[in-house]
Amino acid sequence: MKNILKLTSYIKDQWRAISLVMCLSLLIGASSAIMPLIFKRVVDDVVKATQNPSDAATKAVGASLLVLAIVYAINLILHYFNDKTSDSIRMQMLTQMRHRVFPKVSNLSVDYIERHQPGALLQRINQGIGDFNGWIWDVGNTIISTITGTAFILIIIYSKSVWMGLLFTIVLPILFFINLQKIKKTRANREEATKVFEKFNGAYTENISHLPLIKTLSAEKYAEDKIIQTSNKLMSLRLYQYKVWYRINFIRDAIGSASIMLAIVLAAFLAVQGKFTAGDLFLIIFYSRDLVNSIGPLSRFFEETSDVEISAERLVSFLEAKPELEDRADALPLVSLESIEFKNVSFHYPDNKKGAISNISFRIEGNKTLALVGPSGTGKSTITKLLLRFYAPTEGEILINGRNVSDFTADSIRQHIGMVMQDVALFNDTIEENLMIAKPGSQRSIITAAAKQAHADEFIQDLPKKYKTLVGERGVKLSGGQKQRIAIARAILKDPQLIILDEATSALDSESERLVQDGLSKLMAGRSALVIAHRLSTIMHADEILVLKGGKIAERGNHPELINKTGLYKKLFDLQSASGKVKL
Ligand code: ADP
Repeated sequence: MKNILKLTSYIKDQWRAISLVMCLSLLIGASSAIMPLIFKRVVDDVVKATQNPSDAATKAVGASLLVLAIVYAINLILHYFNDKTSDSIRMQMLTQMRHRVFPKVSNLSVDYIERHQPGALLQRINQGIGDFNGWIWDVGNTIISTITGTAFILIIIYSKSVWMGLLFTIVLPILFFINLQKIKKTRANREEATKVFEKFNGAYTENISHLPLIKTLSAEKYAEDKIIQTSNKLMSLRLYQYKVWYRINFIRDAIGSASIMLAIVLAAFLAVQGKFTAGDLFLIIFYSRDLVNSIGPLSRFFEETSDVEISAERLVSFLEAKPELEDRADALPLVSLESIEFKNVSFHYPDNKKGAISNISFRIEGNKTLALVGPSGTGKSTITKLLLRFYAPTEGEILINGRNVSDFTADSIRQHIGMVMQDVALFNDTIEENLMIAKPGSQRSIITAAAKQAHADEFIQDLPKKYKTLVGERGVKLSGGQKQRIAIARAILKDPQLIILDEATSALDSESERLVQDGLSKLMAGRSALVIAHRLSTIMHADEILVLKGGKIAERGNHPELINKTGLYKKLFDLQSASGKVKL
């Protein structure tokens, strides 16, 4: 229950409305339980009227029927209001929870996202929210009315016969105990099934998003087999659970039926002795069935609570996942980014004790460009992640405007940084929306001006609906160069003080490359830049070049200085010159 209770804080504004549903439900429980009492009266009055016909006896039957009609009408009206209120509250609860959970998604650390499959995370969130809302709905609607009705019926049965009251006082807890066994015996199995279902969803989504790769590798069968394996595992877990349930359900139902039978025998015996009327017998038949049947919803609720606790626990673990790095309570917003300095910075990832970078120092300020060069895995991306404050250095210091980076909020630092990465992510939305994300609310004229500078406007004008053209997964596909020009336009629109540029390795055709390069020069003019360079031709004019090897700085200097040494840079330069990649 611990995690379900934690989730209740997400719907705290709805408690008044939920209490109203609970009150209505309580009244429904009471009015439904009263109904058999009125049936009993009708039966007794009819029996009396047939045995001793008189006006008074007929009137009594009429009066009982009138009371029955009134209680029916009240019950109907209560149901109407209950359905009306609870449906709208359920929707509001669901919406409120979705609104409160989404910011947690945006606040997740990059590290967390890298460690989880998006499909599995989505399943975890949706199932957690859906199950929890269903549970609250059951508490408000079914459970309160069932508990009220059961208590009411037990009191009436006791007033009719103490023995019969005792019978049910003993049998109901036994039925409960049996149901608890059912839950306990399958808990581990259900927990496993929830995880496997998440995995199944994760793998499914991954297969859809990686479909082109799967096709290229002709790995359809391999991917299909993996999905089938997971779904078979899920089925066998569920089948085991049902097997245990059917067995225990049979025992539970046998005890339930025997106790109903015993109650009816006792009532018939008392009726024969003249202690019970025909109406009483009728009442006991109704009530004993209601009592035993009430175990169904109550135990289902117990089962459900235990299942919901599992999904709630998974949702809570996601909601409580701490970002790798949280802002200090007294962190200030960064107003202007004047300089960035790495001072003897070393870092290793939380789950990888091997150092990613070691003893890195550099300074970027003004309109200076710093380039990072080196083979893959040497720590270039790690440096940018530290700069973006996704992680904190393990040793050394990062200074912004001469102050420790932790003095500023991560969000305000990122507001001053623009990125143009190799993999340009496009949302499945219009070109306009894809650009506007860099500066929400921008006027079209500003968006167009940025796109023109980035040489993106040229191809956008040729698209079927220009800026309103849908791009991404379900829209127009853009070439690598076009995507990069969109990314450059985004960065121009954001107007940051520092640009991080992860240069594309894939060769663009020369026209596309010329446009991208021109867009980049416009973007970088008047700003500081950190360039991860793969083609040396693009960094020959950088103010400083750090050549990285194994996470350490192997060489540093500008292009003319490095080319005159016989180190790694010279080697890379010679290699690229020979393959024609360096355009001087
Ligand atoms: P580059 O950008 O130069 O290719 P990276 O900065 O990505 O290099 O990687 C530097 C080192 O850190 C590599 O050894 C890599 O395996 C490791 N690394 C990168 N990202 C992670 C991560 N999220 N968790 C653990 N280790 C990582």
